[in-house]
Amino acid sequence: MDSLLTKIKGSVDKNRDEALSFLRDLIRIPSVSCNESEISEFSVVKMKEVGFNTVKTDELFNAMGVLKGASKGKNLLINGHLDHVPVGNMVDPYSGKILNGSRFGVEGEVMYGRAASDMKAAVAAMIMAGYVLNDVGVELQGDYKVSAVTQEETGGFGTISTIEKNNFVGDVIITGEATDMNISLGHRGTMKMGVVVKGRSCHASAPDRGLNAIYDSAELIRKIKTDLIPILPTNEIFGKTTIAVTRMDVNPNVGNVIPEECRLTIDCRNGPDYSAEKLKEDINHVIKSIKSENPSFDAYVLPYSIVRGQRKFTGFYTDPDVYSEVEQVTRYVKNVLERTPKSTTWKFATDGRFYSWLGIPVIGFGPGEERFAHTHEDHVKINDYLDAVKTYSWLACSICGVRNR
Ligand SMILES: [Zn+2]
Repeated sequence: MDSLLTKIKGSVDKNRDEALSFLRDLIRIPSVSCNESEISEFSVVKMKEVGFNTVKTDELFNAMGVLKGASKGKNLLINGHLDHVPVGNMVDPYSGKILNGSRFGVEGEVMYGRAASDMKAAVAAMIMAGYVLNDVGVELQGDYKVSAVTQEETGGFGTISTIEKNNFVGDVIITGEATDMNISLGHRGTMKMGVVVKGRSCHASAPDRGLNAIYDSAELIRKIKTDLIPILPTNEIFGKTTIAVTRMDVNPNVGNVIPEECRLTIDCRNGPDYSAEKLKEDINHVIKSIKSENPSFDAYVLPYSIVRGQRKFTGFYTDPDVYSEVEQVTRYVKNVLERTPKSTTWKFATDGRFYSWLGIPVIGFGPGEERFAHTHEDHVKINDYLDAVKTYSWLACSICGVRNR
């Protein structure tokens, strides 16, 4: 085995407690989207402490660190988000306690807590990699950059700001969103569609005088489920296009009035072969078919759904036939894990898309399993987290290059 890799592995093993306590500290700081100032400050302090040469923040509390290279190699940037979704009824969400993984059906010890898998383990690993690189005394040829961003869960405003206002990018981007230590090359697009279902208000004591928009919405939702969802296309790379009705806003939203209107939000995750126009067409088709049986049914698709999307496809894919970095990163990961990582795509969307749209190769690699993200079972395997620290350190050495080897 390469002696530098041996040193990296030794350094992570030696600093195991330090790495674990850093991750636990991150989990213990609540950081629901738009409330990231405390965790951002904490990350900045840590970046400085472990030896990043320049560390800066911006008005959105993004934390950006650079471990300066000799400007003779490629710059690697690892992106991870600091924010997380609300905890709901999760038990001890900010404990960061170590548990036996068997309760979640996984092997070995895990660290439990909101955002452990999505994605504080990856953020901790990318910062700890800076510590390890300094500990083993390598001098990088290119820059190793970490971008710990905010507001990912609410649309990616943090990453967009780091790119647009700070030009904080690299030649190769790794995003640490959960891949279960495999390689992810992209994900489907995401679109939201609004549908209004019209009714007619009246006093709830005499419902027959009106037309209940909730009842008609229920019919629309049922038809979407039985007639549309089963026939959505499956893409070779991205998998199946999915639709979910995720919101219903009722107007008026009071207990003694038959509602006159419902606004449904439909979340669609699509392959490039299923456009916003096609979604609109399909929803209209469902509306028409209900109308043919029930002439008083009245619903329409809100126009913003189409107008707002400037890109035809809002997902991304880093094609291995176009970008040799995919093969390289796969090989470097294999060096560390001593197994060939699987190549996959995410079900959810990531900030990786913003870099990919600039033509930069974006490759996903992170600890944590996608199936536990946003669940009450959120956790990360301890060994995977530590292996992620090793892998990010090795990726920095391999992609940026090192002096005197
Ligand atoms: Zn995430």
